[in-house]
Amino acid sequence: MSGPLLEISRGAFRRNIAAVQRRLSPSELLLVMKDDAYGLGVDWSVAEATAAGVTWFGGYDIPTALRIRALTDQRVYAWATSARSEVATAITADIDLGVGSAAYLDAVIGEAEAAGARVRVHLKIDTGLHRNGFRPEEWQDAVATAMAAQRRGSVVVSGVWSHLAEASDADDDTAQRVFLDAVAHLVEAGGEPEVLHLTASAAAWWRPELRGSLSRVGAFCYGIRSADGPPLEGLRLVARLSAPVEQIDGGVVRVGIGAFHGLPSILRGAQIATPGGLRRIVDIGGTTMTVEPWGGVASGQRVVLFGPGEAGEHDATALAEHVGTVGEEIITRLTPAVRRLVVD
Ligand SMILES: *Cc1c(COP(=O)(O)O)cnc(C)c1O
Repeated sequence: MSGPLLEISRGAFRRNIAAVQRRLSPSELLLVMKDDAYGLGVDWSVAEATAAGVTWFGGYDIPTALRIRALTDQRVYAWATSARSEVATAITADIDLGVGSAAYLDAVIGEAEAAGARVRVHLKIDTGLHRNGFRPEEWQDAVATAMAAQRRGSVVVSGVWSHLAEASDADDDTAQRVFLDAVAHLVEAGGEPEVLHLTASAAAWWRPELRGSLSRVGAFCYGIRSADGPPLEGLRLVARLSAPVEQIDGGVVRVGIGAFHGLPSILRGAQIATPGGLRRIVDIGGTTMTVEPWGGVASGQRVVLFGPGEAGEHDATALAEHVGTVGEEIITRLTPAVRRLVVD
């Protein structure tokens, strides 16, 4: 095997999903797959997750949701505010849509009525993040509009959701009160939401008291922990990035991976796993990097930039922390010049 290689383990993904499901239970997992499943591949992931009993998938945008829909009969959710032409295809493909503004609600209802279809919507209440979502003072109108469409048969209000700021526990507690008030108002107006989803990722993992019936989690299922966050019990990174020793140059070892494979050149100084233990990256060039030497170094040996290996587990988030970013960013930046291999 020559050249850089990203090995992706279906088995590790299956075990992570089982661990996340156990952790969240009785809240159900909505598996988020943004950025082509964090650069690790939607296609194999959907099949594996469906077999593991995942019943909700999240695509973020409608094109991703449609890709997921082609691979599973389970529920698929898309929450990016999208063009009307995309909304029409989503309705035909039976995608659940997240809606957080009056203009988008009107567009979704309009497209459902034009198609003579019934669309499942999840109304988003803004609980303090101020990114998207109906403000509490807009909620009453949003519910009235959605429930009128539900009575006409073009909409089912299937869910209420929000996104927590996760800035402090106290802020998130306040957000939960805003969320539950919004749910209560919908129920008074005759709504019967099937799912409530307030928590994502870290809050879903660490704050069981905030979970609704559904929790949106993505990166953790691939074993990517939060930067500067604690390890996640029972989860491991599903991918391993390795590259071959090409040459021993004086005091350093030249390894066949570099910036053109998507590694940030500011990773110099970060530690990677070699057959002789952890060593620092000395410098990063276009297609190679130099690394501190180890005893017994020989060309053809492989070093592991992240993932399980002889020198133990060294994760993508550890590399990310070295350059002030998140683990997802390291993995999704890898270019097609890195060979990918999905293994069992
Ligand atoms: C991306 C996203 C998630 C999942 O977050 P990860 O950190 O990628 O697991 C959950 N909810 C929403 C609204 C998101 O956009």
